[in-house]
Amino acid sequence: MISNICFQKLGNKDCILIQLFMDEFCPVNPLGPATGRNKIMALYFRVLNIPYDMQVLDNIFLGFLALANDIKHSLQDLLRQLMLPQLIKLRQGVPVFYKGVKRNIPVILHSAVGDNLGVHQFQGLLQSFRGQCPCRFCTVIFDDLQTTYSINPEMLKTAASYDAAVATNDTAVMRQHGINEKCALNEAPLFHFMDSQLCDIMHDLPEGHLRRLIASVISSIIIDEQISLERINNAIRTFPFSGTMRNNRPSPIVQDHLNNGEIKGQTASMMINLTTMLPLILKLNEITIPATNGWWITYRAFLKNLEYLDDAENNSDPD
Ligand SMILES: [Zn+2]
Repeated sequence: MISNICFQKLGNKDCILIQLFMDEFCPVNPLGPATGRNKIMALYFRVLNIPYDMQVLDNIFLGFLALANDIKHSLQDLLRQLMLPQLIKLRQGVPVFYKGVKRNIPVILHSAVGDNLGVHQFQGLLQSFRGQCPCRFCTVIFDDLQTTYSINPEMLKTAASYDAAVATNDTAVMRQHGINEKCALNEAPLFHFMDSQLCDIMHDLPEGHLRRLIASVISSIIIDEQISLERINNAIRTFPFSGTMRNNRPSPIVQDHLNNGEIKGQTASMMINLTTMLPLILKLNEITIPATNGWWITYRAFLKNLEYLDDAENNSDPD
């Protein structure tokens, strides 16, 4: 699903929308002492309004690679020098031939995504996640974050509230709004990051929330339902994962991870497979969870939301 703010700003004219994606990766032994020192920051971009089945690796392009430490404090300068001139030029359009007719289609930056830390860095926001307004979506303060379950529309951050804070040029005011420095990408034509503030499912769910949710669900099965971890792991190990799931079979669950409340050692795909298949994994091994188990109720409710998200992704209509 694509936000239509870009189209509105363009007067609903045809355009090509691109999305920037930034993440770090480690080119050396991830267990060695040099891991942090050698991290590479990579910026990619992809075209959003092409059919979903064309959004494959061949259609994801490299923006830049840089040593993460080198650009830790100068990412905005790099974006300003490297990406902005290209985005300004692309706004003029690229020639596209359709039914023999040449048209000039503007290319517009739609959004910039990544993990939460990466996005904060991208957008020039504070990266400490403490104190005032550490969330990029709302104005809830750090002390209230874990106990706030709903927010009013007036608590949401907006492009106007961001611009007002930046316009003061007062570091204290900006920091109170969660801003460290001005976002260079906001100088790109028709773009304001607050208009396209997105969540990243991979980082937020399989590499985030699901690790804790499934740890609680499995702990509850062990403690409340008296099913041993060994039996659960055996059920996972013998489950006939097939198709694309076969190459991403979940690893055994480790008791230490459950004690710490977070499952580790699973890739995002493994975690998704474990989450979506857990009811079948248990059923096939004749493990029945009573409908009154609180964690099981929460988990089943979450599965419904996950189905909805998956459906929205697969059926997304770029028009
Ligand atoms: Zn928030």
